Amino acid sequence: MFRNYKAIGRILYGRNSFDQLDDLLGELRVEKNSYVLFLLDVYFEGKEFMKRVPLHAQDILKIIEVKDEPKTKIVDAIVAEVKSLNKGLPVSVVGIGGGSVMDYAKAIRLMFTNEGSSALYQGIDLIRNKGVHCTVIPTISGTGAEVSMTTVLTGPEKKLGIKGNFTPADQLVIDPALIASVPEPHRFYTAMDCYIHNIEALNGHRKTVMGDSLGTESLRLCREIFLSEDSHTPENDEKLMIASYLGGLSLTYSEVGACHAISYGLATVTGIHHGVGNCIVFNQLEEFYPEAVKEFRAMMKNNNIDLPKGFNANRSSEEIEKMIDVSLTLIFMWAHVCGPDWQKIITREKLRGLLLKM
Ligand code: NAD
Ligand code: ZN
Repeated sequence: MFRNYKAIGRILYGRNSFDQLDDLLGELRVEKNSYVLFLLDVYFEGKEFMKRVPLHAQDILKIIEVKDEPKTKIVDAIVAEVKSLNKGLPVSVVGIGGGSVMDYAKAIRLMFTNEGSSALYQGIDLIRNKGVHCTVIPTISGTGAEVSMTTVLTGPEKKLGIKGNFTPADQLVIDPALIASVPEPHRFYTAMDCYIHNIEALNGHRKTVMGDSLGTESLRLCREIFLSEDSHTPENDEKLMIASYLGGLSLTYSEVGACHAISYGLATVTGIHHGVGNCIVFNQLEEFYPEAVKEFRAMMKNNNIDLPKGFNANRSSEEIEKMIDVSLTLIFMWAHVCGPDWQKIITREKLRGLLLKM
């Protein structure tokens, strides 16, 4: 059976296109009491940018802390709080921020129309009802969350996406001016999420011509940006936003691989951020992606990035074994990397050896 994929609804694209957001939302504000729920990355709190958020009197604005990755309990709490105001459903949930805030927006809009905790829906195709309209506006680029079919959440039991045809947002705004303020090394680490998505999508058993075409173009842009003399120019910001978009799409038609399978374990145990966690893992994966690891190191050098060293040096054996447990549950990823007999290749010893090098 082939999956009938749901793509993102509409895309507004261009430098400073953010200033058209009020018009976009205006199309949805058809009733007198219509309101929008805005989720804004904490970075923008108190900054001039807040004046450009088209907040109407009846709207709700929540500032989102992004110290930790998105949690089901925070999704549930925000939905409960908004529902308790008895204002009805928002006409759009707008997430302005990175992968974390966009994932919150994608999850919260689903939980207005599906009963119970969001933790019940972590998995594939578990959502029953269409959510309310959702708008995502990236302000840091690389995760592909702006276009993907998943919202990655950490619940009481697991870190796992709510994945399915109800998850992609309805409206995307790609405004390259919004990522200009992202500092290094965050910008590099999140951008490398995109680079790694492409390498993983292009190398494995589940690859397709569609995924390859999108991933190849995204990879070309990543190389242009991060092997250039100055990666942080307005022109490169625009390329990075498009690379992230294409990289996210390429995964819809392929699968992530060894780096993500291991970094999910690393993140579950240590809470490390997805971007830097992936970089720490990818740096040790010559065995799987020899040429790409060399290229990744050249990109680090070119951008003066000093990757954390000895990250697992003082971990207990329980922690390492827990990382391995989580990694081995990601069977789709490993089957993509090594084929149906992956269990013969991906042993606990192999994973332990890799983790201890990080
Ligand atoms: P993030 O959203 O976690 O933000 C990283 C940091 O950048 C935060 O401190 C934030 O405040 C700051 N920031 C954001 N915009 C800024 C700006 N314009 N200027 C200055 N600082 C800014 O970063 P991310 O790497 O985009 O997202 C990571 C999350 O995305 C993880 O939770 C991961 O699980 C998730 N993810 C989701 C998908 C998906 O398909 N849904 C894919 C990959 C990763
Ligand atoms: Zn990723």
